[in-house]
Amino acid sequence: MSRKIYVNGEILEEKDAKISVFDRGFLYGDGIFEGIRAYNGRVFKLDEHIKRLYQSAKTIMLEIPMGKDGMKETILQTIRANELNDAYIRVIVSRGVGDLGLDPRKCGKASVVVIASEISLYDPELYNEGLSVVTVPTRRNGAEMVNPRIKSLNYLNNIMARIEANMVGAPEAIFLNDAGYVAECTGDNIFIIEGNDLLTPPRTAGILKGIKRGVVIELSEEMGFNVKEELFTRHDLFNADECFLTGTAAEVIPVVKVDGRVINDGKPGKKTAALIERFREVTKTTGVPIY
Ligand code: PMP
Repeated sequence: MSRKIYVNGEILEEKDAKISVFDRGFLYGDGIFEGIRAYNGRVFKLDEHIKRLYQSAKTIMLEIPMGKDGMKETILQTIRANELNDAYIRVIVSRGVGDLGLDPRKCGKASVVVIASEISLYDPELYNEGLSVVTVPTRRNGAEMVNPRIKSLNYLNNIMARIEANMVGAPEAIFLNDAGYVAECTGDNIFIIEGNDLLTPPRTAGILKGIKRGVVIELSEEMGFNVKEELFTRHDLFNADECFLTGTAAEVIPVVKVDGRVINDGKPGKKTAALIERFREVTKTTGVPIY
């Protein structure tokens, strides 16, 4: 079945879903987006994703031409049009069509696109074996630059880091921030476990405040971990008991090696496995019904 895509008020066949070459998203990466998952006929953490979208919009002073309820309904409608129960949903809002100049006052209305697609899942073996990842030379852009809290259409910082990981055959890259502390990955947040402590870099480290990061913090607290949002170094990573990443695409995925250093015994940790199990239960049983 060909995908049906929401573009500025209409649900169109994929071949007809087009955006102008003068769209600011294309010309300047001037816009924002969200990546959302639906499991089992329900959209996971939809309100949280919509909240983050509107927060990104506020900071870049982009007016989304519909309210949060309208956005929610638009997302649900697009999933329904594609008859999906399990899906990856991409919401894109750009500043709209302008001229070639930088000044955004020349733009008309913001462009809104929603794509609901079948998901291409990570190889299940990766969850059993764990990832071998690397830190890369490109640093995470700091919170005082284009703050990584804004999920902006300009992902060049992330793409450069991903290219650096590709060059050494690693499936994901860990960014350090400008002070050399661990920040996050190109499309995932990062956690380490030390005894009963679960550590993740704070939101001021230069990170996207991941929705799955929030879910894992909540679940970990329920499971009796002592959760600490604090800065840590590569040394802490290498010597952690366990390490894992979280994100919409990867969910919760173990890391077993960083920069050639084997973490613990080189196998995904038991506490990470328990978290993955709890996480999967929650994705199956919560969320906004699509139908
Ligand atoms: N960091 C970055 C840079 C991301 O792009 C993402 C989303 N892919 C994440 C972290 C994880 O965020 P979420 O849990 O909201 O998917």
